[in-house]
Amino acid sequence: MYPIARLCGIGLLLGLLAALLLKNMLMGNDVDFHRHKALLIGIDGVQYEQLKHAIEAGKAPVIGQFHPAMSYTGGIVGSSTQQPTLSGPGWATVLTGAWANRHRISSNDSSLRNKTDSLFKLISLSSPTRHSASIVSWNPINDNFVDDISAGFIELGVKCGGDDQCATDRTVQELRTGNFDFIFVHLDQPDSAGHENGFGPHYQDAIVHSDQQVAQILAALGQREKENPEEDWLVILTTDHGRRPPDGFDHGEQSRSEKTTFIALNKPANAELAQPVPDPIAPGLDGLYGVASVADITPTILAHMGINSDIDRYGIDGVPLIGPLGVRQLTATLNSANRSVLLQWRVNEGSKQPLRIYRSGQLIAKLTDSSHEYLDSDLPQPIGQLNYTVVLNDVPVSRLVSEPVTKRGEAQ
Ligand SMILES: [Zn+2]
Repeated sequence: MYPIARLCGIGLLLGLLAALLLKNMLMGNDVDFHRHKALLIGIDGVQYEQLKHAIEAGKAPVIGQFHPAMSYTGGIVGSSTQQPTLSGPGWATVLTGAWANRHRISSNDSSLRNKTDSLFKLISLSSPTRHSASIVSWNPINDNFVDDISAGFIELGVKCGGDDQCATDRTVQELRTGNFDFIFVHLDQPDSAGHENGFGPHYQDAIVHSDQQVAQILAALGQREKENPEEDWLVILTTDHGRRPPDGFDHGEQSRSEKTTFIALNKPANAELAQPVPDPIAPGLDGLYGVASVADITPTILAHMGINSDIDRYGIDGVPLIGPLGVRQLTATLNSANRSVLLQWRVNEGSKQPLRIYRSGQLIAKLTDSSHEYLDSDLPQPIGQLNYTVVLNDVPVSRLVSEPVTKRGEAQ
């Protein structure tokens, strides 16, 4: 027996509530990103074709179930992103989304320190309740990121000194009883087998062994997911570099085989991983630059965890492999003589969204068409270092441009 006015009032309230719920659902506001977690399993020195060989022979069924896709490391040869196909630079790129011109880990020297925002730091700064662990078989990785350990961005840093079972067991333990939002675990055996024996049965056996350790880690994760069904885990498997042809003993240079790596996800990938660009902006190496790169791993994990970094200080060279796509294949070329920077990129068919370009945090252009390049000829004096960020579909991607420095230290 409610008066009509009161019934209308309740109806209006219910209507508003329903509209609000619908809006939240449409905008994804019902997603609790704090339950979105990530496990990154890095296996050192696994060359893509060799891994495929092991999978096709039924020797790596656990990694095989994730259908590894081809990726590249070492940056783009001849550009500012080029870096040696070594473990130090490679893992630093995996863990920062940046190439060595930002992270400054240019070799395997364990005294080098990462100089750009790491994945650990970005996760930690996104929320005080989020915690990360880095459990490595090859110790120099945690040396390169020791500043993140001292700052508390890596809450648990474990060095296993080449003992992959130690890294596996500790990861299993943390998945069972710990409460980390992000765990990086590194296994090393395929790399050491490659250095000792090259490609062949020993190298294949090492991949088999790593596959079994990945199985142990995933079993612990599976148990955890059963006990904590509200958690949503992204699992990524990758490696830091390929191996030198034809024997596979060494690596560090820029051959296609050394640059070829793999990335595998437990979730549906977007086109960046699933549909390589057939005509990449950077030519050569049989179209290798059309595939995803190891720099894409950090932004993928950030996307899964719902972490949006400040556009003013965005410095990630990779793009996310899940969710919406921004521009692909961004390149930035400085022409010192006429003081200009040419930005070029690719957009997927049908993408006509407005696109914004930032130079070192300042918005310098808004493009409303589906253009593929922009010439910035209004450079500051001196040019120094310029960080360009191109944003499309709310997905940013950056490139660092530096004025070449002569031997006398003069900018040129
Ligand atoms: Zn190696």
